[in-house]
Amino acid sequence: MKNIACFDVGGTFIKYAVINSQGDILTKNKFPSPVNDCKNAVPECIIIKTKELMKDYLLQGIGISTAGVVDNIKGEIITATDNLPGYAGAKLSEVIYKELGIKTFVENDVNAAALGEMWKGAAVNKDTFVCMTLGTGVGGAIVINNKLYKGVNNGAGELGHMILNEKGQSCNCGCIGCYERYASTSAFIRMYLENSHNEGIEIPTITGEEIMLRVKSGETLACRIYDEFMDHIANGLASIAHILDPGLIVIGGGISAQGEDFFLELNKRFKSSAMASYAENTMIVPAKLQNDAGLLGACYITLKALKIYEDIPLPV
Ligand SMILES: [Zn+2]
Repeated sequence: MKNIACFDVGGTFIKYAVINSQGDILTKNKFPSPVNDCKNAVPECIIIKTKELMKDYLLQGIGISTAGVVDNIKGEIITATDNLPGYAGAKLSEVIYKELGIKTFVENDVNAAALGEMWKGAAVNKDTFVCMTLGTGVGGAIVINNKLYKGVNNGAGELGHMILNEKGQSCNCGCIGCYERYASTSAFIRMYLENSHNEGIEIPTITGEEIMLRVKSGETLACRIYDEFMDHIANGLASIAHILDPGLIVIGGGISAQGEDFFLELNKRFKSSAMASYAENTMIVPAKLQNDAGLLGACYITLKALKIYEDIPLPV
């Protein structure tokens, strides 16, 4: 059995695991992400952790799922998110290989999560689907015929930045009215706080979970905002279905923990938003792997790149 050291680099934690070629997780944990000079600090802490893992496991490769825009051919970070300061330009594959002599492969975290779901999760036996993460932001990955669709410049799949309302909210990306501004948990909270304020009720802060409790208890404002929020999510999914006809949309991120009722409601609204044939032929399902999706996707790309596991389809 071959073992891969897998890392999932996020803004708060770096999760890691040793996963074998069957997809069994042999060990798993996490440590806090570096807070500055991430270009050097991230590869350094991956090297230190891998050295520790090498005491207990024979490792054939290293797979990294990471936030940011990734050049997966070179194994480098092209652009990074604000919560990993100074991460852009990190040459992960090169630096780690030089130090450890272990081949290292890198993929964007949403792309890795999609491949994880295809290998071991909600999209097993599906060769074409879309994966979306609905959390603080909205991420997307497009898999067509078992391969990630990357676009001409590695930029495909920014589903959170579909523009839904050109006179709407400004987005962090510089555009106006992006889907992310209406269909993320941060949007849900913003809409609730703004509407509370308009009704003369000042709430300093609230979490998405707390608003959901208010929805379940029947609070009028919470129910109205939830209703609008669900429509925003469903309308965006209808646009994605109309463009890609993916058959399956896997939803991960914090919202996917909302459970069966949420997905029943979302499918219902999607069916009323989308054109009839897409409504009939598209399933919207929760991600299965939750926090392990990125790690399993990182394992998958590494097994494929090392040609260890020939019978799984090429992801890239
Ligand atoms: Zn945007």
